[in-house]
Parts: sequence; structure tokens; C-alpha cells
Amino acid sequence: MKTTKNEETVAAHYGRLLGIGAPWKVVSAELDLLRGQVVIEVGWDESGPVSCPECGQACARHDHAPEREWRHLNVMQFLTIIRARVPRCACPAHGVKTVRTPWAEPGSHFTLHFEAFAVQVIAACRSLTQATELLELGWDGVQRVVDRAVERGLARRSTEGILYLGLDEKSFGRGQRYVSLATDIKGARVLEVVPGNDQAAGEALWQALPAGQRARVEAAAMDMSAGFVAATRAQAPQAAIVHDKFHVAKLLNDAVDQTRRAEHQQLQAEGDDTLKHTRYLWLQGQLPAARQAGFAELLEINLKTARAWAYKEQFTEFWGQPDAAQGAAFFAHWQRSVMRSRLSKVKAVAKTLHRHLTNLLTYFMHPITNAISEGFNSRIQALKADARGFRSFTNYRTRILFHCGKLKMLPHLQPSSTH
Ligand SMILES: [Zn+2]
Repeated sequence: MKTTKNEETVAAHYGRLLGIGAPWKVVSAELDLLRGQVVIEVGWDESGPVSCPECGQACARHDHAPEREWRHLNVMQFLTIIRARVPRCACPAHGVKTVRTPWAEPGSHFTLHFEAFAVQVIAACRSLTQATELLELGWDGVQRVVDRAVERGLARRSTEGILYLGLDEKSFGRGQRYVSLATDIKGARVLEVVPGNDQAAGEALWQALPAGQRARVEAAAMDMSAGFVAATRAQAPQAAIVHDKFHVAKLLNDAVDQTRRAEHQQLQAEGDDTLKHTRYLWLQGQLPAARQAGFAELLEINLKTARAWAYKEQFTEFWGQPDAAQGAAFFAHWQRSVMRSRLSKVKAVAKTLHRHLTNLLTYFMHPITNAISEGFNSRIQALKADARGFRSFTNYRTRILFHCGKLKMLPHLQPSSTH
């Protein structure tokens, strides 16, 4: 091939853009205006040394791998492709291996610069749909970037020093399907996602920590389901179990709501609409100003719902007790009072709480909750709503870890490659 002086300059220019140097060199750069593409062909100086990608040994060049392509950062508005036949070496110890290229990680269809850029774009996007559009990359391509980024991040991640673990379930897909999450409570990050919400799921979550670190966890926050408790007993018997106060609040809210529904039905049968449209007044912590006067009037009426609500509100003081002894005293007082009432739904919750009291009182030693996991809900809901290309649990897991794992996911851009 005859090259003019001008073409040489263009090739050298692209070489600098790519950050590659000897023994690699840009052979040609073709601009395809019709397809809006630049194809950069990279060659190998035949006299240059080859080294085994496994052991680094300099060895004999065997042949060239078939031609292949890598997606690179766009040059101006042009989608940019690198094309090369990479030499293969014959290592006495490892056999015939394709040598490493300075512009991509082994097995990737993207250059390091493109992957680093794509990871940042995906992280900043509200949805994967948006990421596919901005990157001009298909769903599978985006998922591959996500998979590789998470793999890199998990390999670099440290779980040292984790003292508090959160175990929590989230609904997944249609029907009664669940996934479970382990969170690092202080670090505010998701550590692992597994299918199901039973004991096996709980044990799998614990195994996200290496055995040494697992044995150093002081406490774990979780709901009152038997599975997570048994899993913790099996995998980290030293860890205190702290039942999450948001789950307790939910039980009490549900009891108030069930009481209201039954009472509303009864009143309506007598033509009384007192409880109509009041559902959210009983559940909310802070009422909108416009509803406050009306709600105060409701409380004046002798309603079962109002009494159930009062027990729920009273219970929040439990968490503010100064220590476990006073927490236990408060609980005994509250429970006695509930058991004297005729509020069957609230009584049922009081009995449940009494059964789990030991693991409610641990809160005074380790005041932890699953608030971190609750905080990830909106992000996780958005990932779930992004239904395209989201066929399997595996994709769901990697996307949660990508967005909520606080992982270091960028590939190392090799500074040596710019020489
Ligand atoms: Zn070797």
C-alpha cells in the first residue's frame, strides 16, 4: 500500500488519539461518511517482541488471530471502530495465546476508553433505555458493559471492617416472587442480591462476606421472618439480631388499617360515613395542614380506629427509651394496656412483638435499621420498570450492584500505552 505524507500524518494523529505506540501502529483510518463511521486499522510491527499474556515471557510469534473489531470513543460525531489482527504467541508453558492489546481488556468488544465512558454514562442515566440511545449501543452491549463493570468492581471490593449487616427482601417480577439483599449499613451500599427470601437465601447473603469478616459482624438488621433469623444463627451466631423498626411500624400500621376497614363497614351499615376517605390520615406521620382540624375532631369521637391509632403512635416511644431495661419496662406497660383493649388486630401485633422481644431490645445496644435498603427502593423500582433486556434474575442482580453497590468499576486506563 502506497501512503502519502498526508496519510501518514492522519494515521499518526489517530495513533495519538488512541494512545497506542510501538510495536502497535495505526495503518489506516477510513472515514465512511454514509454510515457515519471511522474505521481505524491497527497493525503490528513484525519485528517487535511478543510476550505471553499469562506469564509475560517473551516468546516466538505463532500467527495472527482472525480480524476483529472494538468499539472506541466517537471521534467528533463519528462512531469509531478499531480493527486489528492481533498476533498470537507460542509460549512453551501456556501454548498458543492471543497477546494483550493496550487498548482493551481481554475478551471485550470495547476499548478501555469506551468502557470507562460507557460505565459513567450508564451510571448517570435515569434508565437503560436512555443509556442505549446515548451510547448508540444495543441492549446486549449495555448489559455486557454492566456485567464487566460489576465483575471488576466485585474483584476490587473490600468488605473489611463491616460491623453491621442489613438483610431485606424486595418483590421481584409478577406474583409472590422475592429477591433478598444484603447491605453494608454504615457504608450505605448493597453487597449482594440473591433469589428467594427463605433461610437458604439468608445464608447465601451472609456468604457475601468472607468467613473471617462474617465472624466479626456485631449485629444484623432484619424483619421478623423465621428464615433470616435462622440464617443468621447458622452463619454468624455471634451477631445480635435487631428487628427493623420500619417492619414493626408496618405491622402496627396494617393493624390500624384493618381495624378501620372493619369499623367503617360496620358504621356504613348504619348509614354513618364518619370513616369515609380517612384511610391515609391514620397511616401518615405528618398530616397536611388542611386535614389537621378534621383529624382532631375524628380523635374526639369514640372510635376503635382512633384507639388503635393511639397505641400505634404510643409505640414509637419504645425506640426512644434510654436502654434495654427501660425499653423492656415500656413494652410491658404498653402490652398490658393493649391486651386490656378489645382491638383484636393490635393485640395480635402485641403478641408477635412479645414473642420477638429479645431481638427488639437489641436495638438499644445496636441502634440499626434497614433504612439504607429502603432508601434504595426508588432506584431498584426504576431498574425493575426498565423491563426491556431484563429477562433474568442475573441481569437484575448485576444492575442493582452496578447502581447501589458503590463499586469501583472503571477499567484501568493504561498510561504506558500512551508512550
Ligand atoms: Zn506463558
